[in-house]
Amino acid sequence: MLKTLYGKLSAVLFGLFLVVGVLYILSTLFTTRLYLQEVNQRLNETLAQNLISQEILMESGQINQEGLQKIFHMLMVINPSIEVYLLNLEGKILAYSAPPGKVKRESVSLDPVARYLGKKTAFPILGDDPRDLNRQKIFSAAPISGQGSLQGYLYVILAGEEYDSAAQMIQGSYILRLSSMTIAGGLAFVLFAGLIFFYLLTRRLRRLSASMEKFSGSDFSEPLNAVSAVHSASTAPPTLKDEIDRLESTFVRMADRILDQMKTLQQTDALRRELVANVSHDLRTPLASLQGYIETLLLKEGKLTPEEQKAYLETAACHGERLSKLVSELFELAKLDAHEVQPHFEPFSLGELVQDVTQKFHLSSEKKQIRLQTHFRADLPFVRADIGLIERALDNLLDNALRYTPQGGTVTLSIDQENRQETGKLVVRVSDTGCGIPPDEIPRIFDRFYRVQRNTPGETQGAGLGLAITRRIVELHGSPIGVESTLHSGTTFTFSLPVYTP
Ligand code: ADP
Repeated sequence: MLKTLYGKLSAVLFGLFLVVGVLYILSTLFTTRLYLQEVNQRLNETLAQNLISQEILMESGQINQEGLQKIFHMLMVINPSIEVYLLNLEGKILAYSAPPGKVKRESVSLDPVARYLGKKTAFPILGDDPRDLNRQKIFSAAPISGQGSLQGYLYVILAGEEYDSAAQMIQGSYILRLSSMTIAGGLAFVLFAGLIFFYLLTRRLRRLSASMEKFSGSDFSEPLNAVSAVHSASTAPPTLKDEIDRLESTFVRMADRILDQMKTLQQTDALRRELVANVSHDLRTPLASLQGYIETLLLKEGKLTPEEQKAYLETAACHGERLSKLVSELFELAKLDAHEVQPHFEPFSLGELVQDVTQKFHLSSEKKQIRLQTHFRADLPFVRADIGLIERALDNLLDNALRYTPQGGTVTLSIDQENRQETGKLVVRVSDTGCGIPPDEIPRIFDRFYRVQRNTPGETQGAGLGLAITRRIVELHGSPIGVESTLHSGTTFTFSLPVYTP
């Protein structure tokens, strides 16, 4: 029970109430007792004086037994709990009204009597109780004078019965019993209400803790409905939220984040495995071919015609080239992914770059009988970009366009100014009239190693890294890469670069 927060709070609350209740009752009893003594003593302040004025009690140092008995008798009738003592000037008890054998003291201290008569101390003033060696009681006292001198004192003990303990006192008084019960009942009610309040308050924490345990028990993989019980709290307006609500919504956000990250981790892991498989496959194929041709050349040394030898060597060189291209592309992509490539932004003329790149592909386009054309205005502003990286991206796009466009087709490289103001952008489009990309494969063509399966004979397949590299480069320049394609009709890739503002 004490292991739970509710148990601890309840125990503390119960303890506090117990201490407060006991202290309150004890202090009430103490002050009530003092108050009663004060009132009693004040009411009987002149009692001793009045008794003396009724009879002559001492004459020439001798006790007047007749007068004394009359007073004892009178008091027995009026109030039997009042005890009267006759004291000499040293406080010695000369006579008393109490039953014989009950009086334990031979004398009482005269100090309280002097304070009583001097009226310098506030009531209640307690004096020695002749019946008990350890107890003190309230009293009334008056000096007895005769023939012009002080003869002794009349010492009247007022409370015949005193309560020794609080329990006795409560038992002895209906009012005290009633008020004690009222206080105890009130405290019990407040304690009960407090326990219910704590229960309700900690209920949300218990629910949250259960959700957290369930979440961690599910290896952080259970979908969000595991914590949906607390999710509603996070939708409450921020002003109505207390710390527990905020804790709940923070937990829900945290759980969402963890789930997201777990998902990303799993995806990354799957991607990594796929990547390793692809890389090893793509490296192994050209390597095996290369090895095969070289071994054949070695085995058939002297048996091959020079033409055959040349053809074998050319094929081996082609595979070597493919291998080298693949390795450098992989290296390039790894560097881009690891953010190791920091673009060096500078102003340059995009038109000139487009011309240069087109020039590079002029020969191969002529060989394939494809029309390669450019479209842009001569007065285009400079762009601010990394010239080397943009050249690489254009190379990839043009290379693809020429590869996937059949003989007699057209490849167009155009630049348009999107916004004529100074802060505008130049939009680059590489379009072809080639085979196009099936619509359902378009979202995947930028994935590394993804290749659209085609049954076109003689078409040289790349490694599927070119577009992945291009997209990273374009994204480094803050632009997305767009693609529009119609199957058997053509494809257009688009990206934009910011205009240089001095
Ligand atoms: P690859 O080196 O195999 O061309 P890319 O990443 O450059 O790899 O391209 C991925 C896939 O996208 C290719 O397999 C190809 O089928 C398709 N693709 C890219 N450019 C074009 C294009 N201009 N026309 C048609 N298909 C294209």
